[in-house]
Amino acid sequence: MLTKTEAVVLKAMKYRETSKIVTLYTKKFGKLNVVAKGAMLTTSKFGASLEPMSYITAVLYKKETRELQFLSQADIVKPFLQIYSDYTKMTIGLSICETLYKLIKFEEENQKIFNLLVNVLDKLNEAERNEINLLWFFLVHLLEEIGFKINFEKCVLCGEKFTDKNLSQKVAFLNDKGGFLCSKCEAGATNFETYSIATFKSLFWIERAKLDNVTNLKIPRNVNLEIQNLLFGYMKTHIEEAVDLKSLEIYHKLK
Ligand SMILES: [Zn+2]
Repeated sequence: MLTKTEAVVLKAMKYRETSKIVTLYTKKFGKLNVVAKGAMLTTSKFGASLEPMSYITAVLYKKETRELQFLSQADIVKPFLQIYSDYTKMTIGLSICETLYKLIKFEEENQKIFNLLVNVLDKLNEAERNEINLLWFFLVHLLEEIGFKINFEKCVLCGEKFTDKNLSQKVAFLNDKGGFLCSKCEAGATNFETYSIATFKSLFWIERAKLDNVTNLKIPRNVNLEIQNLLFGYMKTHIEEAVDLKSLEIYHKLK
């Protein structure tokens, strides 16, 4: 069956002499591996459309019985040129692609994740400051979409709504429950991680922010590192495939 879908390239690898295997996150089918025949040739019809983060319209030969599908055509919908010309943006964009490449199962259609991916990359392309917030925004909403929403509203043990009075300067987070503890419950709890109140507040702000405003918040470096530890510690507790991201390591080296 010949079928057309919007897609974002997550990863492309050389395949045989002249082809590429490309992992796409497609709007219609979720994550998919496709073979792009001849894509390594300089004369290839695919041109530069198969680089990671490319937002394309893909025409596929799709057969249910086949694990690898064939890519027949790829046209760039919108080029994210500012991402490719800025190392910081590139490491963040690649971190987003790497997350989907590693974490998400094949062929599970989810248009919300697709829209989140495209909208965050588009915003990353335009952003002029605090781009790392977009990665946190992406991860928090991706986690929500795959059933691991982080609870910022109330204590995951007693259910009391958080106020400035029932949170300490160091807030406890329970990986297995996906949420924070009030100061009373923290006293009797074990096996929690602690993060600064600034980390709690920044990430909560990002979760509620509109994508258009999410880069307005300047987060200090130590808080960004805590946010990263929190999100990845949480993901590793619940998702077997979750690992530290190579692209994110490079981001930190640049900073
Ligand atoms: Zn409590």
